[in-house]
Amino acid sequence: MRRAYNAGRYEQARRHARLLLGKQKEAELARSVIVRSYWNEHAYDALIQVGSEWEDNVSKSYVALAREHRMSSSSGKMLTPMKKSRLERLRGAQPGPQLRVKWNPDNIPSNFFQEGHRLWFRYPQGYVYWDMPVSFVLSSTHPSLLSLAAETLLYPWESATRAPFSSTRAMGEQVSLSFSAGTDSTAAALVMPDDTLLGYHRRSFDSMLDHRNAERLIGYLNDSGEREVLQIESNHELIRTHHEKPVGFSSDFACAVHLILLADHYNLGAIGFGMPIDNTYLWKGRKFRKFEETQYYTYWTKRFAQAGLDLLFPISSISEAGALMVVKASPWLEHLNSCMRGDGVKGCGRCWKCFHKNGPLGRPFDIKAHEIQTYLNKRPMPTATHALWALQTMGHQDELPDMAHLFEKDLSWWAKVYPPGFDLLPERWRDSIEATIRAALPVMPEPYALHDVNHFDE
Ligand SMILES: [Zn+2]
Repeated sequence: MRRAYNAGRYEQARRHARLLLGKQKEAELARSVIVRSYWNEHAYDALIQVGSEWEDNVSKSYVALAREHRMSSSSGKMLTPMKKSRLERLRGAQPGPQLRVKWNPDNIPSNFFQEGHRLWFRYPQGYVYWDMPVSFVLSSTHPSLLSLAAETLLYPWESATRAPFSSTRAMGEQVSLSFSAGTDSTAAALVMPDDTLLGYHRRSFDSMLDHRNAERLIGYLNDSGEREVLQIESNHELIRTHHEKPVGFSSDFACAVHLILLADHYNLGAIGFGMPIDNTYLWKGRKFRKFEETQYYTYWTKRFAQAGLDLLFPISSISEAGALMVVKASPWLEHLNSCMRGDGVKGCGRCWKCFHKNGPLGRPFDIKAHEIQTYLNKRPMPTATHALWALQTMGHQDELPDMAHLFEKDLSWWAKVYPPGFDLLPERWRDSIEATIRAALPVMPEPYALHDVNHFDE
């Protein structure tokens, strides 16, 4: 029972557990396996049904959690039936492999297989693929890379992917960046060495998002020879649609899964993520935390290292505002626009991105536009520190009368360099990245106002 549970084979674990329910000594453990396994599977109804008959504390607390979750889900977080059926159709229209295999939680790397240049991954509910460079060979890819890739894809749902890797890969040499062509990752590309390999994940199916802006910047970088941008097409953003979520990345690091899978092919020794201070030293962009002490940072740094990769946060010393200033000073600026609703060249001027990304770059937007007003009036406000800075910088403080006290201080420090952020950089990449950033932006005055950020007294 324990072995099945720990390996993520929940149905099997429950079968064993049910047989033990009548045995006094083992009943408590059996009940806990049943409720926890349902919880891990997000099977809240089943959990409530069996768990509400039990009186022990573990069952009671999981039943309460499940009830709470079901309530919050039904109040807006859950997908509407229409969206659900659209996603089902989308999944049904995906190509499938010739070979059929079973999901194997005991040997994670064995869930990957190759047919021509297409790499397949079997996950519990189906298959996803990547179209790899023609010379890619799965059999010369280290198993720890495959395990790490699977973990970034299934981390929230499959505890089996969190098991120790069977072996450790030696560190590679080449530095790379998970590149989305947005402002944060463009700033990251600008401060990283010129030979950084930029890896762009291309969604293989049509969606509501307009990717012409990304294509324009990528075309410019490749044609001008400024950087090499590798584009890999995949449908792995469908995995999380099995878990009541819209199309998107399963976890923060799933945006780099193509680079993880290609790490041996390109001898990669580092993967960069364009995460500014807003996502590192600030919790949800609004409360300071010591990022280097978070479990998130220590856990993933270790996992990447075991796969021979430095986990690199090239812009962890600057905020989204700092990233905008880096991009603004670059000749790449005219090829970049984060708005996904424009005509492929200009922004729409009416979305949240046009307010907080394009606005500070001096591009036009309408502060009274519906989406911008909706976000500004949410409490807690999304990307709060950055939005406050943007409002103050552009003279729109009047939009937030209830938050006037937050504008009493000058927020210009937000666009400056936070030197402790350099301590997160692995030694072999630090000097060049630090020098580029220090040359681009002034340093924040001490004591750092960043340390006091907690806009909503949380
Ligand atoms: Zn827009």
